[in-house]
Amino acid sequence: MADSTSPVWHPFTQHALTEPPLNIVRAEGAYLNTQDGRTILDAISSWWVNTHGHGHPHIVQAIRNQAALLEQVIFAGFTHEPAEQLARKLLALAPKGLAHVFFSDSGSTSVEVAIKMAVGCWHNRGHPRHRIIAMEHAYHGDMFGAMAVGQRGIFNAPYDPMLFDVARIPFPARGSEERTIDTLAALLRESPDSFAALIVEPLVLGAGGMKMYRPDVLSQIAAWCRHYGIFLIADEVMTGFGRTGTLFACEQGGVAPDLMCLSKGLTGGFLPMGVTLATAEIYDSFYSTDRTKTFFHSSSYTGNAIACAAAVANLEVWEREPVAERIQAIAEHHVQALAPFRGRAEVADARQTGTIAAIELRVPDAGYLATLGPKLNAFYLEQDILLRSLGNVVYLLPPYCVRAGELDRIYGAIDASLSFVRV
Ligand SMILES: *Cc1c(COP(=O)(O)O)cnc(C)c1O
Repeated sequence: MADSTSPVWHPFTQHALTEPPLNIVRAEGAYLNTQDGRTILDAISSWWVNTHGHGHPHIVQAIRNQAALLEQVIFAGFTHEPAEQLARKLLALAPKGLAHVFFSDSGSTSVEVAIKMAVGCWHNRGHPRHRIIAMEHAYHGDMFGAMAVGQRGIFNAPYDPMLFDVARIPFPARGSEERTIDTLAALLRESPDSFAALIVEPLVLGAGGMKMYRPDVLSQIAAWCRHYGIFLIADEVMTGFGRTGTLFACEQGGVAPDLMCLSKGLTGGFLPMGVTLATAEIYDSFYSTDRTKTFFHSSSYTGNAIACAAAVANLEVWEREPVAERIQAIAEHHVQALAPFRGRAEVADARQTGTIAAIELRVPDAGYLATLGPKLNAFYLEQDILLRSLGNVVYLLPPYCVRAGELDRIYGAIDASLSFVRV
């Protein structure tokens, strides 16, 4: 049903086929409140951004204070304490070797920056390299560079001829991990001097369908990159800030990437911001009295002071509250709750990494698949639960304030939906 009264064009929305959007007036903890008085349980952290719950008072206060003091200043030639403090805090927590923080506005921009830094570094070294290796089913954002390294499909088909060519390694599905590593090794052996970097989502491929792989595979990928001297870009835009059970997913593979992209959970889900963390080696290749070696990249709002203050406050919540324990409790709850789904006729796979749980449904054909997601989402929403399945993959990615009873309610709705989807 088209919503003909609003001029707003919504993301990933076919306005000819969808109901008018729900109007949200307030949010608190794990709940969204609609204009017409409904209270909806946010089981996907508002598209994976919210970490500690909506309206966390500490982050609210930090934003208030900063807005009254300094909202924004040009970030070339100027700096401010929230940015300096955030950079120091992030580097203290990040995998070792990362030594510099570059600010931008979103996950996509943090990826664009990482790719430009990797390629720019090889340029500055006098050994230009322009090829990137990426993983099948990857999602790195919707800008042109980010689309190029992501999985090609209906989402980016109109732009396909404009996207640069990328070498692919297969997704390391259970049982076929060797194929991934062998493909990578073969690519690197064949043309060791042509690749600038490999980009990968550590442990969980989010938009690709919450596909999960083993930490030791990530370690092996990192080892091959290191062996051949190509940069490893860890896109932790979704996996960062506790989603996979550790603060960063790279930790589980003992991996120290050359570049790391962060965004979604960075400000606790309050304000748009991205950062790209880089090693001293990469930074130093741009450090020169030769101006042409400058990293010529910026966006107007880069290093926004209010967003930086929100991000600092987000990290302070990690310091002050038992966030790691909450994450552990969610992970344990998932393990228990997923078990009964395994072996059911409607379920092809049920998997979990940290706070992320995914139930992959069996689908008879592609036509059925196309209509399944919207049907499921509508069914959950009728019960005041916000879930947004990725095709036939229903997943939970809750804010860390979620309670056991609320998780049970979500699993109950998913359980009920299984019989619903069969008819
Ligand atoms: C969401 C996402 C992005 C893009 O972030 P935006 O802020 O939406 O531009 C990039 N990489 C991964 C892994 C993501 O999940």
